[in-house]
Amino acid sequence: MALKNVISISGGKDSTAMLLLALERDAPEMVVVFADTGHEHPETYRYIDYLERATGVAIRRVMPDFSRDFERKRSYIAEHWPEDIRQRAIEALVPTGIPFLDLAMLKGRFPSTKAKFCTEHLKVLPIQQQVDMPLLAAGHDVVSWQGVRRDESPARSRLGEWEELDLGVMAYRPILDWDVERVFAMHRKHGIEPNPLYSQGMSRVGCMPCIHARKQELREIASRFPEEIERVAEWERIVSRAAKRGVATFWAARGEADVSLMRHGIHSAVEWSRTTRGGRQFDLIAATSDGNTECSSVYGLCE
Ligand code: SF4
Repeated sequence: MALKNVISISGGKDSTAMLLLALERDAPEMVVVFADTGHEHPETYRYIDYLERATGVAIRRVMPDFSRDFERKRSYIAEHWPEDIRQRAIEALVPTGIPFLDLAMLKGRFPSTKAKFCTEHLKVLPIQQQVDMPLLAAGHDVVSWQGVRRDESPARSRLGEWEELDLGVMAYRPILDWDVERVFAMHRKHGIEPNPLYSQGMSRVGCMPCIHARKQELREIASRFPEEIERVAEWERIVSRAAKRGVATFWAARGEADVSLMRHGIHSAVEWSRTTRGGRQFDLIAATSDGNTECSSVYGLCE
């Protein structure tokens, strides 16, 4: 059976450059995949459509289906949770079809820098289950192309160009030693526009916002895209109704026992991001880079 080259793209500059490299090399049997978290900026969805048209390559969108998990969770709550909160949570636990929101409802919390379950459940597993495993089951060898670069972070600087992953999939990281200039040069060479979010002040493209957003990134997002903040504020209300303790903030409030959406929700985080105060009132929205601001998954699926 033929080898399949699975090219994972995020809508960001690095994975786009990698896709262009794969096309340049005429990589055989390409399967181009975009794992949709449901928490991307609308520009990114438009950009994926644009990439498909501009390159002429079909891009497969994958997302998890949590409907069975919702059934299981409702049954569990009905049997095990205290009576006074049971009804509220069961009524709230209705899948929306938005993967990031549904996952947060199921967990009763948002992912965080300490509980980084988002990449695994929203990107790694859907690609493994919906793309890699069927290809392996059909007898193919699978090479997973990953657009990560060493100069992005200390964790990524230690990655190898080739690595055997779970299930026997081989990771291939062909732009590991590229710098950012080379990445954008690759776009120019092929006449492909970068995601417009870069020219709108974003330093990276991914969930809007990512749990790893820095203080200044959050400030920028809030001033340019207030509708994204409002969307997350609404998600905080929805997830709170499904959470056992009745409150779930997008960023965990540090060292606070009495948490509320009013004082610790995303609007408060935005207010803090506009101050010159340092410290970390919210979970790792650091004022400066500390080398831990991206997903550390070996799949490198988040920019
Ligand atoms: S690490 Fe950030 S970009 Fe990746 S899935 Fe989580 S929130 Fe989204």
